[in-house]
Amino acid sequence: APISVRTLSEALGIKANDLLRKLMAMGSMATINANIDDELAVMLAMEFGMTLDVVHERTAEDDFMQAFAPAAEADALQPRPPVITILGHVDHGKTSLLDRIRKSKVVESESGGITQHIGAYQVEYNGHPITFVDTPGHEAFTAMRARGANVTDIVVLVVAADDGVMPQTVEAIAHAKAAEVPIVVALNKIDIPNVDTAANVSKIFGELAQQGLNPVEWGGDVEVVKTSATTGLGVSDLLATLETIAELHELKADPDRPATGTCLEASISEGRGVVATVLVREGTLRVGDVVVCGDGYGRVRALFDDQGRSIDKAGPSFPCEISGLDVVPDAGENFAVVDDVGRAREVAEARRLRTRDAAQAERQTVTLENLYNRMAERKVKALNLIVKADVQGSIEAIIKELEKLENAEVPIRILLKGVGGISESDVILADASQAIIIGYRVAPEDRAITMADEKDIEIRRYDIIYQVTDDVKKAVEGMLVPEI
Ligand code: GDP
Repeated sequence: APISVRTLSEALGIKANDLLRKLMAMGSMATINANIDDELAVMLAMEFGMTLDVVHERTAEDDFMQAFAPAAEADALQPRPPVITILGHVDHGKTSLLDRIRKSKVVESESGGITQHIGAYQVEYNGHPITFVDTPGHEAFTAMRARGANVTDIVVLVVAADDGVMPQTVEAIAHAKAAEVPIVVALNKIDIPNVDTAANVSKIFGELAQQGLNPVEWGGDVEVVKTSATTGLGVSDLLATLETIAELHELKADPDRPATGTCLEASISEGRGVVATVLVREGTLRVGDVVVCGDGYGRVRALFDDQGRSIDKAGPSFPCEISGLDVVPDAGENFAVVDDVGRAREVAEARRLRTRDAAQAERQTVTLENLYNRMAERKVKALNLIVKADVQGSIEAIIKELEKLENAEVPIRILLKGVGGISESDVILADASQAIIIGYRVAPEDRAITMADEKDIEIRRYDIIYQVTDDVKKAVEGMLVPEI
């Protein structure tokens, strides 16, 4: 368990207030229930002339988490297929492109090749497998990321050539950037008459460049591939580009260790119990392995690939469906193979207790008021903001003012700026990225309000620019007092 000021006070026999005062003198604002890291606790004890030995009790969970430690030996690492997620504005062709890629490349299986939607699939290009996550859209992408599952290696941003960069395109770019994932643009619907003209293409290049995606043809570093999901034109160029980028990033994994990975989706299926689509990230998953995934555990009874074929093992970046878990895990939960069922049960049961406790405990998200403390506790490294405003001019004015406030201790990152109301998607991004949403002369949508309440995300609304900068300035300096 982490050390709170309270537990430290009990352990050292020093009044919590004295500790807090000393902490403040050391430049850290904290409260009695705040957790401080080991290093700071040791330093604090030293200030009172005591030596502190921090010993953390090892739990089954700690042992379990060892499974996710990076491979010890670099030579054990072998190239693995890249994992691709397709994002973009609604109706720009994400689903069609996913279908087209799947159809064009799936080898008919002996069983007749019934492709099922299991949440991901793999195709082969030039003898190299490429994995696609089958749930397009940045909500799913970022919901996964909120659980710490950064499964995506490359984002394909679909932009319809007849429509150009649209609001959700901008959002998708922000989500991909927040995840620090390389982006390839698929300029789709290029088959539509009169869209593949120099003037139209350069208009869209300009829109992309404005969003920080400078096309290679313009001397930038973002590949833009013309595609048509309808005719199949450019699809192999897209795959070739993905393969090149994957090679550039030298994606590797060790296939010879016990498997770890991520649940992409899961449900209860009649007659089969809990079925989960998982993506193996390290190691090789086999039938008979005991896994813990989220709050669930169990022995893998059966493994199926994306064409519904029964398989006996799955290696890195391979998507497959497993049955045998006792409860349905959430999308984005990690899984790992453990030695025996007893240990798996111990980890899963401890997690269930914790999930229950956590649901009761107060959620610790970032607000402008607690920013300074959270930074002192080293839980937050920057002030992440999402800025939505009524008009483009307001955004520019606000950003310009905010840039002036940034200091070395508190970097300010604008994750997303845009014209329009505050949407659910903004709240999801804020949740995944510990961000605060600033609405300038715009209101949140009802569903965004509900979700922000649930997730405890701070939405601050303003009508006057200097009030925005005033609050942020105070927050950055730790001077903002909560309104009562
Ligand atoms: P999504 O909302 O991004 O998943 O978009 P869909 O894949 O559902 O496509 C939206 C519409 O655009 C559908 O009517 C598709 O048939 C059409 N569409 C998708 N890709 C293309 C394309 O390359 N060319 C043309 N002409 N139509 C396309």
